[in-house]
Amino acid sequence: MIDFRSDTVTRPTIAMLDAMMHAKVGDDVFEEDPTINELEEKVADMFGMKAAIFCPSGTMTNQIAIKCHTQPGDEVICDKLSHIYQYEGGGIAFNAGCSVKLIDGSTGRINAHQVEASINNKNDVHKPVSKMASLENTANRGGGSCYDFDDIVQIKKTCEANDLALHLDGARLFNAIIAKNESPKDYGKIFDSISICLSKGLGAPVGSVLIGTKNFIVKARRVRKGFGGGMRQAGYLAAACIYALDNNVNRLSEDHYHAQQLADVLKQKDFVGEMLPVETNILIFEVKEKYTALKLQAKLKKHDILAIAISQNQIRLVIHLDITSEMIEQTINVIKEL
Ligand SMILES: *Cc1c(COP(=O)(O)O)cnc(C)c1O
Repeated sequence: MIDFRSDTVTRPTIAMLDAMMHAKVGDDVFEEDPTINELEEKVADMFGMKAAIFCPSGTMTNQIAIKCHTQPGDEVICDKLSHIYQYEGGGIAFNAGCSVKLIDGSTGRINAHQVEASINNKNDVHKPVSKMASLENTANRGGGSCYDFDDIVQIKKTCEANDLALHLDGARLFNAIIAKNESPKDYGKIFDSISICLSKGLGAPVGSVLIGTKNFIVKARRVRKGFGGGMRQAGYLAAACIYALDNNVNRLSEDHYHAQQLADVLKQKDFVGEMLPVETNILIFEVKEKYTALKLQAKLKKHDILAIAISQNQIRLVIHLDITSEMIEQTINVIKEL
């Protein structure tokens, strides 16, 4: 099977498993797991931030951040396609007791004017208190779109002027950093909290890290415990994450190249309608004429190619480190015959 359903389907390589096998571990609830401590320090340093905390999922890192930045009854500002709103099980309401102000952004990205227009009047008791904004980079449902860094700087100014915390859902931040030739430290200077996933394009089996100030991470550690996310000898997992950061970041450009190759071939086909601009490792396109999204998904499956229909007329393909150049060639040959 050639599996384009998600970049979460990767399996650890022998080298990664070897790093896991040799990890030194301890009880992380006592903060005594040396490998987790190493990962947390490494990531905090990488972003030029003060502290970090290892968590089992990106949903948990996002939800902890939201919980730490808000009080029940407050409001979170984000794009309507955001993972924090669409795909975290209603967690914003469930965990933080907050409402959401959704912005109708552009391919998953919002701008400073939209943030400003979404902030409620502090003195109006009818309104929830706007407490934070959350950005997603790359934006998953935006087809892996990347923010222009200048736009992020403008949003930060608006947040500062209005006492809003600014969180980054950076599940695929390294895809953006590689695609736009940016540096993690630029992001560390802007955001109050950043969540990164090691289990997506970087190929670790499990793991996300939340990064912030010392005080913020102390608070996050308490919330993580309350959410049931305190882990014990999870250094075996952190070792995979360290391996992923050391070995699998620069190669993301290969995934982006593969995505372009598929996009070029798909665009030639009559049954492919509008395709979101392909900036990183995700392709989202409209299906028309002889196929519906489900029919195309089934047709591809007959050729051992797995894709996901994300709506009645949209297919998503995600490229990752278990997709080889040979698989891309094979897929291109299949697409040409459809
Ligand atoms: C995958 C993903 C997450 C985290 O998902 P988990 O499966 O909980 O690790 C968060 N944000 C975005 C944009 C994602 O794509």
